[in-house]
Amino acid sequence: MAIPAAAQPPAGGAKPQDTEIYSPVPPVVTPGRRDADPPSDAIVLFDGKDLSHWVNTKDKAPAGWKIQGGILVVEKKAGNIETKETFGSYQLHLEWLEPKNIVGTGQGRGNSGVFLASTGPGDDGYELQIMDSYKNDTYVNGQAASVYKQSIPLANAMRPDGEWQSYDIIWTAPKFNADGSLKSPAKVTAMHNGVLVQNDYVLTGETRYIGKPFYKAHGNTPIKLQAHGDPSPPISFRNIWVRRLAD
Ligand code: MG
Repeated sequence: MAIPAAAQPPAGGAKPQDTEIYSPVPPVVTPGRRDADPPSDAIVLFDGKDLSHWVNTKDKAPAGWKIQGGILVVEKKAGNIETKETFGSYQLHLEWLEPKNIVGTGQGRGNSGVFLASTGPGDDGYELQIMDSYKNDTYVNGQAASVYKQSIPLANAMRPDGEWQSYDIIWTAPKFNADGSLKSPAKVTAMHNGVLVQNDYVLTGETRYIGKPFYKAHGNTPIKLQAHGDPSPPISFRNIWVRRLAD
């Protein structure tokens, strides 16, 4: 009778221990009580109390958005806000709300965005779109969870107005050579409400409203939230935290 393959002795006297590895030992990271809570090594960017981690993008003054009942509400007149700290690659969690009274159509319905790296004033950077895509059609590479004008989300996982949405994002920052040329592109993986929407997508450059994306060299950058000028009521954010990843 033939010996089952799994029970055959390994060739050449090799032992199970030959393929066991004991270092480096992964660091202990104590998770939050719920998966959405910040783990022990996270930088908490917004916990409902203050905007000490944020400034206005245009003038670096204290962030002009409002905290109402522990929720961060976009103040459109203040413009985009961004983190004081700069980041390379990271894991980011944030939650956002399209208000119950949302109005508008297409891109003009609860538009905001998270710029995974803010590379300059205004909307410079790489935008993961935020808008109301619940039964609200627009161009598919511009709907919620798209890499704006680059990558269609793998699913529309949008909850209706008045319910909190979550993004969990893994951002691999691009790297540049000393002469400014691209060494390795940016990549993003993202979950929207726990549903995979971007799977290791390789970006072709920064978001461009008009024309094709392209890269310009940068180092570590802030993370930016968009104050979009659409006429609909402002959206809100809560529970924003980030973990630095090795570049
Ligand atoms: Mg947007």
